[in-house]
Amino acid sequence: MIRTRHDPIESLRDALEAQFQQNTDRLTELTVRLRHTDGARDGEGDRAALVAARRAVAETAHALRRMAEGSYGICDRCRTRIPLNRLRALPHTRFCRTCHRTGNGGAHTPPAGFP
Ligand SMILES: [Zn+2]
Repeated sequence: MIRTRHDPIESLRDALEAQFQQNTDRLTELTVRLRHTDGARDGEGDRAALVAARRAVAETAHALRRMAEGSYGICDRCRTRIPLNRLRALPHTRFCRTCHRTGNGGAHTPPAGFP
């Protein structure tokens, strides 16, 4: 199949897939390293990096899944279309600029059991 029309989502998919691969590799590397430095002094920084890498993998996986479902680029909260320039800057984002901003305030739902 020959693609005649350039779809901007296609290039975002490439960016997300590269990001996903990179973060998965990092996660694997950190998991292995932590297993070998169990109880060692340097474990804390790696543990924080592991949490960050795991979150990044989850975010990119989520974005790729939405792409497959056809809901990519739609804000998770208000269901409006996220501008392409925002998606280019943050390919894994789930929220439009407005919801992202309000999400940082009181509207953010804390995990269950959070005080
Ligand atoms: Zn929104």
